[in-house]
Amino acid sequence: MYNLWISQCWHDSFTYIYVSAAFLQAYKSTTNERGYTMQTVHISKMSGKLQGLHSISTNTLTNPFCIKQNKADNGGICTKCYSVSMLSTFRKNAAPALQRNSDLLARELLTDRQVPFINASIFRFSAHGELINEIHLQNLIRIAELNQGCTFALWTKRKDIVNKVLARQSKPANLILIFSNSVIDKVLTKKPLHFDKTFNNVSKEHEGQNCTGQRCIDCRACYTHGGIDTIIEAFK
Ligand code: SF4
Repeated sequence: MYNLWISQCWHDSFTYIYVSAAFLQAYKSTTNERGYTMQTVHISKMSGKLQGLHSISTNTLTNPFCIKQNKADNGGICTKCYSVSMLSTFRKNAAPALQRNSDLLARELLTDRQVPFINASIFRFSAHGELINEIHLQNLIRIAELNQGCTFALWTKRKDIVNKVLARQSKPANLILIFSNSVIDKVLTKKPLHFDKTFNNVSKEHEGQNCTGQRCIDCRACYTHGGIDTIIEAFK
């Protein structure tokens, strides 16, 4: 009945290990009352720094933005992306489930029946992978809208997608947008339009670190409006 995966997950300089299980979705697809197969969103159970949280992620390896940033000759955090190296080598088996999410979330708007019920107080979007297109963001917003009891945090570098979508619709209060700064050791304190917080990668000796070594379930700074809005962590 349950479809259990062991995977590793990545966001910027973080490496996370997670068990991707039948948390709320027991199947990759379900059959509706008319007998049609309906694809469902894959939910990952996190561990490591994100122990105790769940996530909806996508496949970094097929995301054109990620591919371009990973190959860029600019020394940015994406050039050090563990997700790319892990999914290319020893975590190849995680890619199919993430790819199913890439296909499902970026192709068309989810029906309300496809929107998963999230039985948690905080939840991570895109622990793995980046926004693919406007439809992807619209679907994440819809998931937040239909799960008002949960606070979602989405990390993204795609200001262009955020600006286009949020010019047409409002951001739900239970979705916290975190701008993921790609420049190492250049802490961004000014939040871009629509963003609630910035996330910054620094080298080990850099001052002002307020995220390094913490667990998100204990800290929750990224899942709480107000408080710390400039997150700083040493990359590994
Ligand atoms: S600041 Fe806190 S909640 Fe945000 S990533 Fe770091 S440990 Fe997690």
